[in-house]
Amino acid sequence: MENNETKKSLNFIEEIVVKDLADGKNGGRLQTRFPPEPNGYLHIGHAKAICMDFGVAEKFGGVCNLRLDDTNPQKEDDEYVQAIKRDIEWLGFRWGNLYHASDYFDQLWAFAVRLIKEGKAYVDEQTSEQIAAQKGTPTEPGTASPFRDRPIEESLALFEKMNSGELPEGAMVLRAKIDMANGNMHFRDPVIYRIINKEHHRTGDKWHAYPMYDFAHGQSDFFEGVTHSICTLEFVPHRPLYDYFVDELKEGKDLNDNRPHQFEFNRLNLTYTVMSKRKLLALVQEGLVCGWDDPRMPTICGLRRRGYSPEAVRRFIDMIGYTKYEALNDYSMLEAAAREDLNKRATRVSAVLHPVRLTITNYPADKTELMEAVNNPEAPEEGTHTMLFSRNLWIEQDDFMEDAPKKYFRLTPGQEVRLKNAYIVRCTGCVKDADGNVTEVLAEYDPDTKSGMPGADRRVKGTLHWLSQEDSLDCEVRLYDRLFTVENPGADERDFRELLNPDSLQVLDHCKIEPYAQSLPVGSYLQFQRTGYFNIDSDSTPSRLVFNRTVSLKDTWAKAKNKD
Ligand code: ATP
Ligand code: MG
Repeated sequence: MENNETKKSLNFIEEIVVKDLADGKNGGRLQTRFPPEPNGYLHIGHAKAICMDFGVAEKFGGVCNLRLDDTNPQKEDDEYVQAIKRDIEWLGFRWGNLYHASDYFDQLWAFAVRLIKEGKAYVDEQTSEQIAAQKGTPTEPGTASPFRDRPIEESLALFEKMNSGELPEGAMVLRAKIDMANGNMHFRDPVIYRIINKEHHRTGDKWHAYPMYDFAHGQSDFFEGVTHSICTLEFVPHRPLYDYFVDELKEGKDLNDNRPHQFEFNRLNLTYTVMSKRKLLALVQEGLVCGWDDPRMPTICGLRRRGYSPEAVRRFIDMIGYTKYEALNDYSMLEAAAREDLNKRATRVSAVLHPVRLTITNYPADKTELMEAVNNPEAPEEGTHTMLFSRNLWIEQDDFMEDAPKKYFRLTPGQEVRLKNAYIVRCTGCVKDADGNVTEVLAEYDPDTKSGMPGADRRVKGTLHWLSQEDSLDCEVRLYDRLFTVENPGADERDFRELLNPDSLQVLDHCKIEPYAQSLPVGSYLQFQRTGYFNIDSDSTPSRLVFNRTVSLKDTWAKAKNKD
């Protein structure tokens, strides 16, 4: 780590870690944790935290544990726990130990009791509204609760009662007794325990009083021996309280060793989507998307189903980096990372999304040929597969135009194009139905121009993809667009439901694809020649192939936007 090149490429948190290790802090240990609350599926924002928490431990010889921050049974579920584990592993990370904040409920309870006994916590019987009204403002001190100085014995008895199951939620809370005038609002007697009368997915009905985030998080870090507790910037104002509770817990022992420190980096915010779990849950529950793994969702499982590889997601996280300033990242950067990755990875196949017939009128009706198609020009070792060529083909409707402008390099009467991996053909006309719609395009091929043959080097401006009518399958293709119509739906005062893009999903159900695609497993990364990157959807069956468009070949969206 001495040379400058390596140093330059470190982010500011890695620099802190390197320095702490060099200074021998924490006995030379490095321990991080990723602490999701199992109340929803992980999204691309969590991927940023995961890459930091696991990445820094991996890079500098430490360990990163997975801690499920399960202190609120109201919204938590084992389904989410399983999904979280799957998504972390899919991203390519492995945790050291698996912990649960609920493992510490006894210790946290004992700590709270100790604080009450030391006169540092009290039970407040006011409503949350009353407590909020007494908080004051950053410049004006708050007002003390009438219960602030109640006898210790009374608080102890009521705290027991809070956990008995006899009391309704909201009846009372336990508050730390710190400083109602503190400039940091988090010190104004923060609530540290509240009543929740709901079964916990791990501890059942043992508990009715549950610790708040600020009372559970730092202590959990401490119990586990976390050295670097990395989180996002909104926790900066919580840090002094985090330190306060750790100090109290440590009871004046040497604080310089084996104590966790909190470090903060900027959240990932992405344009045209939302990242709040509450909103993502609403989208799922209200059927506004087709589940957590809907390919339009910013969830990790949604991105996976859409056709993003873990490497593409991690590449994107690398591109945006870690800073101390909030920012809004452009969705097109995520797509650029996907293109860069999929170009190396994707198997090339031919598919026609809007088919029209192309007849090669001088090609014998009873003849067929097998043409070689390269699977991936970026990875020659992946070999080739064959495609059947015949007189009757499918091409894209917009690859023919009767009256074409000058720079139209596709099929128009009199013009030559190459059919990829096959022959050069010259368009001779078309057949139309009674309404004037083109039902068949006509062309003649030049037998001397077969790809790979001596005559093949004749220059033509356009190359089209095609399928043989005898040897293609019907399939469904799902095209996706931005989920929201506005750049920053999270910051918009309108309800986020009103901002949904009604055209975010377009289903094309009369597409054609070469049979080779049928041999590939669900989840395969594909490039449809000239069209974009696609993925075989989990709805796909051998008799009905279904594809998701991951991303188009070029950033057509930016172009369209500039035109408006
Ligand atoms: P909620 O919306 O319920 O508050 P959350 O998004 O904060 O939840 P957690 O499960 O508490 O989700 O998050 C686990 C970790 O992921 C935390 O350390 C949090 O800082 C981090 N994280 C959450 N959202 C983002 C984001 N958009 N960018 C970077 N890190 C994030
Ligand atoms: Mg949170």
